[in-house]
Order: sequence, then structure tokens, then C-alpha cells
Amino acid sequence: MDRSASNLTELDAAELEVALESLGVPGFHGRQIFAWIYARGVTRFEEMTDLPATLRATLAERFTVVTPHIETTQTAADGTTKWLLRLADGRLIESVYIPDTPAQTFCISTQVGCAMACAFCLTGKMGLVRNLTAGEIAGQVRVLAHQTGLARATFNIVLMGMGEPLHNYDATMKALRILGDERGLGVHPRRVTLSTVGLLPALERLATEPLMPNLAISLHATTDETRSTLVPLNKRYDLKGLLDACRRFPVSRRARITFEYVMLADVNDSAEDARRLARLLSGIRGKVNLLPLNEAPGIPFRRPDDARVSAFARILAERDVRVSVRKSRGRDIRAACGQLIVEGARPSTGQQLASRMPDGAMEPRH
Ligand code: SAH
Repeated sequence: MDRSASNLTELDAAELEVALESLGVPGFHGRQIFAWIYARGVTRFEEMTDLPATLRATLAERFTVVTPHIETTQTAADGTTKWLLRLADGRLIESVYIPDTPAQTFCISTQVGCAMACAFCLTGKMGLVRNLTAGEIAGQVRVLAHQTGLARATFNIVLMGMGEPLHNYDATMKALRILGDERGLGVHPRRVTLSTVGLLPALERLATEPLMPNLAISLHATTDETRSTLVPLNKRYDLKGLLDACRRFPVSRRARITFEYVMLADVNDSAEDARRLARLLSGIRGKVNLLPLNEAPGIPFRRPDDARVSAFARILAERDVRVSVRKSRGRDIRAACGQLIVEGARPSTGQQLASRMPDGAMEPRH
């Protein structure tokens, strides 16, 4: 049996109905199964007690409900929890729960590793191992929501774990459709934030989606010269192209594009950078989120001190740019931004390189 073709978590509710109808089973049972999987977190057909017993037996023969397996769970002093999840092929990813921000937030991955190779990000050191499927992306939220008891509560999702979501466009958008379905977890797209380095063709495509998540752009620099050293993709899609695309992006009346700006001491944290950033963002409905670097061995940058971060923020605020400073969460368990890295069954070139670095910084944490 081809397990992937029969894995129901790769299907949205409409596709699930069609799959059942092709077996001669009435489509509404598909909606029931979808609700069992997502709303109730039940993955064994025999426990889906409102389905006829014969149907449950047929389903068990024909279909699977593949779910990421929890390898380890770690909780930080501030309540942030990180899950190491094992996928069906043995690959590992990390997903994070951040309580009270003030909303409850799940930070999930869209790829195993990442191809973008941003200079200050540990995930970037892994290289891209593979894309996640829609079922694996949505599966992280399904597992975390039921583990934390929040499946019926209101929560946010940020696509800020491992990977570049716009580099895995179709699976990411399908996962958001599955997660948004009212019969399941019902997460409205405005509760979802997609963070991207700015893959321009995919960003233009996102602008045409009927239901759109909030957008966060990883800007990180105010000149092409600096940005290209930090975010290699900038050599292909430069600042002007990216900011023009942001200007055209259909932001809803109450929403703003978030510009993430990782602060690196003596690289991009000067008063001149702050002034230039304010100029670059003029005419865009945006807000800036400053991310003081989460330092890690193997990352060749330093975090600026708090005074430097405040001075930068003040310059933006004086120029009427909305600005906030991201509090890093879960640093003691390496759950903070840019700290997610796992070892797959076979290390990628990036991992092999990283594991040769001093002090064992890239060892998986259990
Ligand atoms: N690929 C997407 C999502 C990745 S992570 C993107 O790049 O937007 C979310 C944010 O964390 C990004 O803005 C990323 O640049 C930032 N980040 C990566 N490494 C970091 C680090 N060491 N310290 C602080 N922020 C970091």
C-alpha cells in the first residue's frame, strides 16, 4: 500500500470527502473524520465512535493518520516549551509553544533545515534537508494544541520555526487551509503570521491569496551591501524590490506588515541605520520588531547592549515608526529565534560543518 496516498492528514476536508466518496462512502463521514483528527485529536479509527463499525474497519484497512511523534519535550524557566518531533521518515523538527505573549502562540516549522543560510541563524547552518508536507506542518499544531490543552482555545501561529515558508509555498498554504477549517482547529488566518526573508515571486503570489496570514519580513539591514552579507537571498532580490513589493502588498485596514530586524552589535545597530530604516519604510503600513541577537556558539556576531537597542528604537519612534523589541523566550532551552537546529539521520553538509565547530555547540539537546 502506498502510505502517502492513503495518509488522511495530507488532505483538506473537501479532499477527504472525495477520498471517501471514491470508496462509495457518503461524504459527510469525511467531515466527521476531519473533526475527530483536528478538533478532538483522535487518530485511531476505532475510537471514532460516531462512525459505523464496518466503516471504521474499512478505514483502518485503507487509510492511515500519520502524526509527528514526540521525541522530547523541554520547558524553559519562562514556560516556553519546545518539542522535538520525529517525522515518518525519521527526520527531526522542532516546534515551540510560547505562553502569554499575551496570546498563546505556537511557533512551527515549514522545512527540515533551511536553504536561506542567513549568517546569524543556526537553522541556516543545517542547509535544506527537505520540505515538510502540508500534513506535517498542520500536524505540529495538531500535536501541540492537544498536548497543551489549547485545542478549543484561541491561539496564534507564527511560521517562525525552522525553514522558509515561502520556499515551501504550496504545502504551507494548504496547511493553513487545513488549520483554518472550522470543523477542525478553526485558526483564522489573521491569527497566523508568516515570516519570510522575501522570496519575491512567492511574495507576489501570496498577495493574491483570498485568505491571507499576517506578513512579517526579515529585513535585518538598511543597505544592500550589509543585507547581502546577512541574508544571501538579497543578492537575487534586493531591498528596493522587496520594499516595493511590500508597498504593493494588500494589507487589510487594521493590519501592518512587521519588519523584523535582528540587531547585531556594530553591524546594523548604528543611529545612521535607524534613520535609514525609517526612511526606507516611509509609505509602507508597517511596524518594526527589533530582535536583539540570540547568541550561539558558531554564530559570529554579538548582541548589542540594551542601551544601544533602546537608542535605535527611540530614533524610529521619533520618526513615527511603530517599534517594539522582541523579548527572547526560552533561551535556556535553545527555543529562541534562530536557535532551532536538529540532527537528521544523515547529517547534511551544513550540519557536518557545524559539528566541527568548537565546544559541541551543535549537538542535539535532549
Ligand atoms: N525563514 C523565515 C522564518 C525564520 S525565523 C524568516 O527568515 O523570516 C524568524 C525570525 O528569527 C527571522 O526574522 C530570523 O531572521 C530571526 N532569527 C534567526 N536567527 C536569529 C538569532 N540568532 N537571533 C535572533 N533572531 C534570529
